[in-house]
Amino acid sequence: MLGSSLREAAAALRLGQVSATELCQSCLSFVKETSFLNAYITVTEEVALKQAAEADKRFSQGYIPPYNATVVQKLFNHGAVLMGKTNHDEFGMGSGSTDSIFGPVKNPWSYSKTYKEKRFAGHNDADWLITGGSSGGSAAAVSAGTCYVALGSDTGGSTRNPACHCGVVGLKPTYGLVSRHGLIPLVNSMDVPGIITRCVDDAATALGVLAGHDPYDSTTFQNPFEPFKLPETIDLSKLCIGIPKEYHAPGMSAEILSLWTKVADMFEDAGAKVIAVSLPHTPYSIVCYHVLCTSEVASNMARFDGLQYGHRSDVEDSTEAMYAATRREGFNDVVRGRILSGNFFLLKQNYEQYFLKAQKVRRLIADDFVKVFESGVHVLLTPTTLGDAAPYLEFIQEDNRTRSAQEDVFTQCANMAGLPAVTVPVGLSRRGLPLGLQFIGRALCEEQLLTVAKWLE
Ligand code: GLN
Repeated sequence: MLGSSLREAAAALRLGQVSATELCQSCLSFVKETSFLNAYITVTEEVALKQAAEADKRFSQGYIPPYNATVVQKLFNHGAVLMGKTNHDEFGMGSGSTDSIFGPVKNPWSYSKTYKEKRFAGHNDADWLITGGSSGGSAAAVSAGTCYVALGSDTGGSTRNPACHCGVVGLKPTYGLVSRHGLIPLVNSMDVPGIITRCVDDAATALGVLAGHDPYDSTTFQNPFEPFKLPETIDLSKLCIGIPKEYHAPGMSAEILSLWTKVADMFEDAGAKVIAVSLPHTPYSIVCYHVLCTSEVASNMARFDGLQYGHRSDVEDSTEAMYAATRREGFNDVVRGRILSGNFFLLKQNYEQYFLKAQKVRRLIADDFVKVFESGVHVLLTPTTLGDAAPYLEFIQEDNRTRSAQEDVFTQCANMAGLPAVTVPVGLSRRGLPLGLQFIGRALCEEQLLTVAKWLE
């Protein structure tokens, strides 16, 4: 009854084959069945059912709401039903969804038949797989079939990384295309609300709802966004795909490499021009990302002092002591570590050597992309992750910060350059887990990017 995508469900709704309330009840029962995944931190059952009832009324009246607010409001304006709030790494810092005050999120594929059949002998039964992160609850929620669309927050890959590990589609739009109003900032100059869906068509539909200028976010583009539908038949003959050689990163699994090569060959066989390209500053990107990220974190987190909102410590010796205790009690190790690193990079004697230098290199990284796109390349094909989803116990053994840095290697470059990027599931690993590949597109060319992604789907 649910339909495998938003597209199918919407068609069933239009045809009167199912009501919004029935769809909502169906999703809610999945939410309950899969509560062990820890994907949702709050299930807004009552609100969801109320909204679904309202949507039923609207559908019958052919109500078409306007586009004019923040991401959530825009979805509501279009009759979307809110299922709940999903789990993620604290303040979006992480690549596993293992660092949340609500506990880690479990990858639905941990319980899949394919994984159970193919996993190696000696595997610890109690060990489940991570979702990737930081927006792992959203990816798990879509992957488990509890909803059609989920929002993520993509600063360095937090939408694409978990989408890839959970076998779903994850889109990071061009910076400034979707309003950040209401999104807690991580790195203001890189944050973009991301879209997680079961198929590429649904990502295009959700983007059509979410994109556009917002008076509450001055960095959004002024030009009106034209929602688009992706074509049913796709002609690749005029398409030029670039394979950036610097993305052959250390630590990439042999399976990812062979999938990447295979897909490049598939595009070539289907008529696209596939060429090797160079983005020479790529190897510096991850380091610069972390200097810029931690520096912005140091300043962004200053607002969480216990006075205005959030947790406040009971320590009352002095205001200073209350601030310190609030922040010590309220932030996890990863967040505190980033605040410390960021403040180090921003010290007077370090500012030029680290922060300013990282900003300059960021410009060079963005220019690399511009040059490649100006040379005629339409989209780049790269891996999304280094391998398939890691078991939780293995993932948490490593140092958090090092691990995060490794995991972002293929994804943060698009944030550094403000470009749109999408991950698409492309088959299973030897362990029976989802593998995916990423396409990076020209700024504001989401239609072209998603069309290419749909061809591969
Ligand atoms: N892994 C990245 C980080 O920890 C992802 C950040 C994000 O996209 N929210 O910085």
